[in-house]
Amino acid sequence: MSIISDSLKRIKPSPTIAVTQKARELKAVGKDVIGLGAGEPDFDTPDNIKKAAIKAIINGDTKYTAVDGTPALKKAIVNKFKRENKLNYSIDQITVGTGGKQVIYNAFMATLNKGDEVIIPAPFWVSYPDMVLLAGGKPKIVKCTEQEGFKLTSKKLKKAITKKTKWVILNSPSNPTGAGYTKREIKDLAKVLIRNKKVHILSDDIYEHIKYDNFNFFTIAQISKLKDRTLTMNGVSKSYAMTGWRIGYAAGPKDIIKAIGKIQSQSTSNPSSISQAAAVEALKGKQSFIKKRSKAFKERRDFVIKSLNNIKGINCITPNGAFYVFPSCKGLLNKKTKLKTDTDFVQKLLEKSNVAVVQGSAFGLDGYFRISYATSMKNLKKAMERIKSFCESLS
Ligand code: GLU
Repeated sequence: MSIISDSLKRIKPSPTIAVTQKARELKAVGKDVIGLGAGEPDFDTPDNIKKAAIKAIINGDTKYTAVDGTPALKKAIVNKFKRENKLNYSIDQITVGTGGKQVIYNAFMATLNKGDEVIIPAPFWVSYPDMVLLAGGKPKIVKCTEQEGFKLTSKKLKKAITKKTKWVILNSPSNPTGAGYTKREIKDLAKVLIRNKKVHILSDDIYEHIKYDNFNFFTIAQISKLKDRTLTMNGVSKSYAMTGWRIGYAAGPKDIIKAIGKIQSQSTSNPSSISQAAAVEALKGKQSFIKKRSKAFKERRDFVIKSLNNIKGINCITPNGAFYVFPSCKGLLNKKTKLKTDTDFVQKLLEKSNVAVVQGSAFGLDGYFRISYATSMKNLKKAMERIKSFCESLS
């Protein structure tokens, strides 16, 4: 009999992490690989944040902290929600974890019983379904088409809700498509959810600050009467280029927040004391670089979209947030190219042209692939040339 647990057999390793790792390994053996797989800003963490961390080390902030976050960080988070989202929370409605990933994982572990359903609009971030499975729940995948802007409609949401639905996940701007929900779209979803009193909402707002074309960000707790049933998740990774520091947080109902802390107390305990001190500075310090970086991301987005749409067989819609695009490669999956699936496409692209991207099927929608353009313009230019030559070589 295998030593590995049944629950672990239900899941697979994270495909985004796998692609990133693969690109890293190929580079280490001297291959000229361009990695467009990793969902992390290439920018460095701002200096004022680094300095706050150094100060924390020198001051001896190197001991255990409260399991679910220092009072200083929780206060900074309360203020962030007030300032940016007009949401009022008390300190005991806040939890801090080792990355947004841990917060979401804890939330599912803390709330799901066997068979509980979680509605996950596809394309989705790769880890949602596997986290649900690990916690004993049932992912209920709702496919959202390109024609729908890859966004969940109220009609589809209504149809997906059953007596067993415990959560619905909303992620705007979205990983992997970059699609941001408008106020109207969120309100339409809220109308359905108001009537279904047992359903909770997990709003993953990690890409809140990375947005373009005057897109107005709204989070569901802010514009509906659903705050009491919503866990609003965010973190410093993407907005402040702090992926490696691992600080994510959430605000929500006290019972859920307390349960998340309980899990954390029996697993990792507190997130790094030094990273927490850095996160306080991130949230309280100057915010001007966020806009500057969004401008750089926008230039890259525009360049990537234009380049992709110039390639025969590739088609890509323009998203208004995050640093991803989600082009279709369906036009290249046929007998002539000998490529059957998006996985064939991305594997061949890596093999033949040394560009690493992630297949759409990993995000729950076949026939597409995800490009992360959080890398230099120089890399993007090279990558787009390679993708073009690769696609042309197929026909
Ligand atoms: N969220 C990022 C991505 O989608 C980081 C890797 C991960 O945790 O999935 O690439």
